[in-house]
Amino acid sequence: MTVLAVALAGSPANAGVRPQADPVAGSPGIGDDYYPDYGNGGYDVSHYDVRLRYWPDTDRLTGTTTILARATTDLTQFNLDFALQVSSVRVNGWLTPFTRQGAHELVVKPTRPVVANQQLTIVVQYSGTSSQVQVNGFTAWNRTADGALAVGEPEIAWWWYPSNDHPLDKATFDISVQVPDGIQVVSNGVLTSPPQPGPLGWSRWSWRSTKPMATYLAFLAIGHYEIRTDTSQYGQPVINAYAQNLGELSDAAHASVERTSEIIDWGSKIFGPYPFEARGGVVTAAGDLGYALEDQTRPVYDGRFWRRGSNAYVVVHENAHQWFGDSVSVAAWRHMWLNEGFASYAEWLWSEDQGEGTAQELFDFNYATRPADDPFWQVKPGDPGAQNPFHSAVYVRGAMALHQLRLTVGDDAFFRILRQWTAGHQYGNATIEQFQTLAESVSGQDLDGLFTTWLFTPGRPDLGGVSTLRRSVAPVEPKSWSKIKDAHEALHAHH
Ligand SMILES: [Zn+2]
Repeated sequence: MTVLAVALAGSPANAGVRPQADPVAGSPGIGDDYYPDYGNGGYDVSHYDVRLRYWPDTDRLTGTTTILARATTDLTQFNLDFALQVSSVRVNGWLTPFTRQGAHELVVKPTRPVVANQQLTIVVQYSGTSSQVQVNGFTAWNRTADGALAVGEPEIAWWWYPSNDHPLDKATFDISVQVPDGIQVVSNGVLTSPPQPGPLGWSRWSWRSTKPMATYLAFLAIGHYEIRTDTSQYGQPVINAYAQNLGELSDAAHASVERTSEIIDWGSKIFGPYPFEARGGVVTAAGDLGYALEDQTRPVYDGRFWRRGSNAYVVVHENAHQWFGDSVSVAAWRHMWLNEGFASYAEWLWSEDQGEGTAQELFDFNYATRPADDPFWQVKPGDPGAQNPFHSAVYVRGAMALHQLRLTVGDDAFFRILRQWTAGHQYGNATIEQFQTLAESVSGQDLDGLFTTWLFTPGRPDLGGVSTLRRSVAPVEPKSWSKIKDAHEALHAHH
């Protein structure tokens, strides 16, 4: 789905004679206005085969990643995003020179010409200690007491596999990691076979994702995990994993994450069919991650989410992302509202379903408890800025914006809009402008004022007549308020 790479190629699709353009250097960025050097131009990846060996006692890894791609233009060179030390690169079997550029660009210079539409098999061999490799002053790789976590957004791939690191270029994945016997490796999708203890004290864990996935959604959790395998009521594999040292958090974590299948069945009724081939969740030891992330088919949660007891709201949030963020991904990072506003609104819908406060009550309480001069209102959810993609305004004001849309178009049109959205962009990418166009077409209303006010204008929107009756009485705190707040406080500990 590398739409922008086509634009870089001149216009080979123009009618008539194909232009005799000179081959070009693939762009070091895919065209993201927030992060200009994320992703690359000139090719489109269809599959990653990531094969690692990992030593928990030193945090060292060695790896071979095989990338299947198609050139989208004639190329003199192209870039991959990667930060570890590379020992060799092969393109279609030929050893190929490479150089480094900036902190995370690997520049590959094929010795034979690469022409548009050519199939490329790129094999990169590498090694490194990811917790010690800093890019722009940080590493997103978490070394833990007994292993590691490769879980992050938008940056994580740089520390464990070379890629075209932007949601615009999705691909399928095989992820395979060899670790000492007794250590578990959890990743996306399904296990292709039970891990077998090897003859020399090593076991290989192989995971497969058969639906397209954005690079940041591929993850690893390595360490001592209790793994629970089951089948959902409708026949899907369910694989949950819990750090063995959760201690007193263990029961509350299980009481929340074991509801994943129920939550996905609930979401399927509202958002449309669940888009992926497996379900599950991973709970890390307390403090090992500091947040939760919607990794595809299997979100990863810090155990601290359950320090005050069971809380299903964070499970609802991360699984709502399977539709909003993972299946329908942002076309550029500026469109984060399509991920976080929707996953946050899913929590309000769950609250409504559970009888713990309606979405209207949650809207009113959020509005009333944030005075007009609160800096919260100065961040535009529809364009929060490159430094602010995870600002609470994207989540909370983002959910409020969806609630205003629901009030404006009515429940019937609102839920039809959500289902048409997930169906129309399944496994693809989308923009806020496309969502507005769909909402206007389904509802038959001009929604420009609503979107401009709630997503693109700083300041607390005036509610006009909408809630006049309610504003004479201080809103009551909904029952779900503290649990939703807990989920979001921890979510924001990250960036
Ligand atoms: Zn989220």
